[in-house]
Amino acid sequence: RLVMATSALNSDRKIVTGPAGYILEDVPHFSDYFPNARTYPNPLQNNAAYSVVKQYFVDEDDTVPQKIVVHPDSPRGTHFRRAGPRQRVYFDSDDVVACIVTCGGLCPGLNTVIREIVCGLSYMYGVKKILGIDGGYRGFYARNTIDLDLKTVNDIHKRGGTILGTSRGGHDTTKIVDSIQDRGINQVYIIGGDGTQKGAAVIFEEIRRRGLKVAVAGIPKTIDNDIPIIDRSFGFDTAVEEAQRAINAAHVEATSFENGIGLVKLMGRYSGFIAMYATLASRDVDCCLIPESPFYLEGKGGLFEFIGKRLKESGHMVIVIAEGAGQDLLSESNEQSTTLKDASGNKLLQDVGLWISQRIKDHFAKKMTLNLKYIDPTYMIRAVPSNASDNVCCTLLAQSAVHGVMAGYNGFTVGLVNGRHTYIPFYRITEKQNKVVITDRMWARLLSSTNQPSFMKHDDNHEPNHSGGEAGAMNW
Ligand code: ATP
Ligand code: MG
Repeated sequence: RLVMATSALNSDRKIVTGPAGYILEDVPHFSDYFPNARTYPNPLQNNAAYSVVKQYFVDEDDTVPQKIVVHPDSPRGTHFRRAGPRQRVYFDSDDVVACIVTCGGLCPGLNTVIREIVCGLSYMYGVKKILGIDGGYRGFYARNTIDLDLKTVNDIHKRGGTILGTSRGGHDTTKIVDSIQDRGINQVYIIGGDGTQKGAAVIFEEIRRRGLKVAVAGIPKTIDNDIPIIDRSFGFDTAVEEAQRAINAAHVEATSFENGIGLVKLMGRYSGFIAMYATLASRDVDCCLIPESPFYLEGKGGLFEFIGKRLKESGHMVIVIAEGAGQDLLSESNEQSTTLKDASGNKLLQDVGLWISQRIKDHFAKKMTLNLKYIDPTYMIRAVPSNASDNVCCTLLAQSAVHGVMAGYNGFTVGLVNGRHTYIPFYRITEKQNKVVITDRMWARLLSSTNQPSFMKHDDNHEPNHSGGEAGAMNW
């Protein structure tokens, strides 16, 4: 058995050398610290609907390789544990008290994930007690819980936002774990971004320190695809689709006026995937600017020169800019507000859309009459319900999380790796960000599609972003 071949099990990281020479970055399991914990046959074994499926239950030793070999000591690559139902479970369904919380910013699909956790627990495992935590992490100790059942969640996937509410800040680990203990909760499902997953890891550590038999699972929320390791998560596809509406509006404005420029700011503080995919999808975009690809304004080969050229050629242009693009240029011109933070401690970015609009207007003021329209569709995009493909993504993530928790896995995030669902340790999801690799083909394809310059200064020491080792599927 795989676990028998364990060569290293260091204190906080469970790294296992598999028999075939690969490295498994494993997640904690109840059996690690409750060796005598009682197990039960998975109730799905009695369900006729599943008995027709060949190999419905996932073999306990099944792992999923990452696409690219990243570990220098592991020529066979890094693997993660495969998600899915196991033959035996670590909870008696009648004893389960589950809770669900959503934290951080809005993202299409939050309600679908909530719905499918409730449905998965109820239909597959017969769980009856599921609580919703009101308003993010602080809801654990500052608010009453909401009872969730099949009826309450029936229609919620058709609505944007989160029926549970969300918030930033307010992560008081002691109070949160006290509340989990007081309410008798033994399964915690946490939906949120990188900050939320860091918070989940801290909650898990405190639970383990107190010796509680409570499972903690994360479902990764990343509208802008900035979470590493995973191929994608829910919300991204919907965001790219919804961004088309803003780009279309920008195009209509731009083509209706002399020297019309439509400027659209899209989400992406550090990762420009939405801007890149929305541009590739649209065909109306003349220039796409993302955080990973530095640019400059003045002089030969700069943005102003390109704008002048495009306006001369076609009389109008559409620019898409990710919110984190050009922040270096912005802070050069305005040092004041760079230290502002939100309630979760994230640096607040200055509005690059407003700034660049003004710079473009100033630059061309004496040369020609410009008609520039700036559209910021951020909150409109975040608020829509998830599309069909994201709904499927939400459903599979929710089911994987439920199966993992029931099977005794703990302290993990579910995620699609190399096309398969896996359980990933929290630290792997939070230690770095997924970025567009501008030396990979995808960015070159975008440059060919818009025919924009790369804005690389030849005399510059710009270190292009080569960190392709962990790139997810969106970089291919
Ligand atoms: P997004 O950035 O996509 O909106 P996020 O999950 O990163 O989502 P944040 O506001 O950064 O959003 O964090 C969500 C919650 O996680 C907040 O309640 C915050 O207090 C908590 N949190 C963030 N970072 C940590 C951390 N290092 N330790 C404990 N809690 C954290
Ligand atoms: Mg975040």
